[in-house]
Amino acid sequence: MKVPCPICRKMVNHQGNPYRPFCSERCKLIDLESWMSQRYRVPVDEEPPDSGESLADQEAPSSNGNH
Ligand SMILES: [Zn+2]
Repeated sequence: MKVPCPICRKMVNHQGNPYRPFCSERCKLIDLESWMSQRYRVPVDEEPPDSGESLADQEAPSSNGNH
């Protein structure tokens, strides 16, 4: 029975494969890394979405010198 590797989509033999469901140790590590980075990522829910707000702030008077 062959199953597609979740990382590279390569068809890989499920039976006798020490890295299943991945095709190789490399793909297994890639998955582990992404899993870890998701788990340990700092929550950034407070960050507002990118809006044009910062653009309006640039209207503030500055020492431009232009006359
Ligand atoms: Zn793979």
